[in-house]
Amino acid sequence: MDKSLTSRFEESPELDKAVRFILSTVPERFPEVFSVKYSLVFTTKDSPIHYAGQCQKVSDKVRFKTGLDYVISIYKNNFLQIAKEEQLKVLIHELHHIMLDERGRPRVRRHNEAEEFCELPTHDKYSSGVLDTLIRNLSMKPGEERL
Ligand SMILES: [Zn+2]
Repeated sequence: MDKSLTSRFEESPELDKAVRFILSTVPERFPEVFSVKYSLVFTTKDSPIHYAGQCQKVSDKVRFKTGLDYVISIYKNNFLQIAKEEQLKVLIHELHHIMLDERGRPRVRRHNEAEEFCELPTHDKYSSGVLDTLIRNLSMKPGEERL
């Protein structure tokens, strides 16, 4: 592959695993995620401001050609500096950006569209119940799902 791409983007089985853990533990909190296609990518690019993650809808032509609706970028340099719990918050937050419009088309939920869906994942109370459930599940099943 093009070296300029492989130097900036990476696959991350750990990220995929963490998202599978989130979605399988609290599927009811992400009903819309199951009806769209998204992909996660680790990027070494600098993030806009201080973000650790970003959820973007792809263009219609890319959707048409790839079947992908969203790309969730995780900014490796920032993400790896935060605690595991904060990393989960970031992933939960980015997944909560996924929603369908009234006609069932994928779009990105804006921060002001849900109560306490704060731009900063650490302040995002919209996701806090999800995190509590995840942590309970992690401590109940030691060794089963290691993040
Ligand atoms: Zn956000």
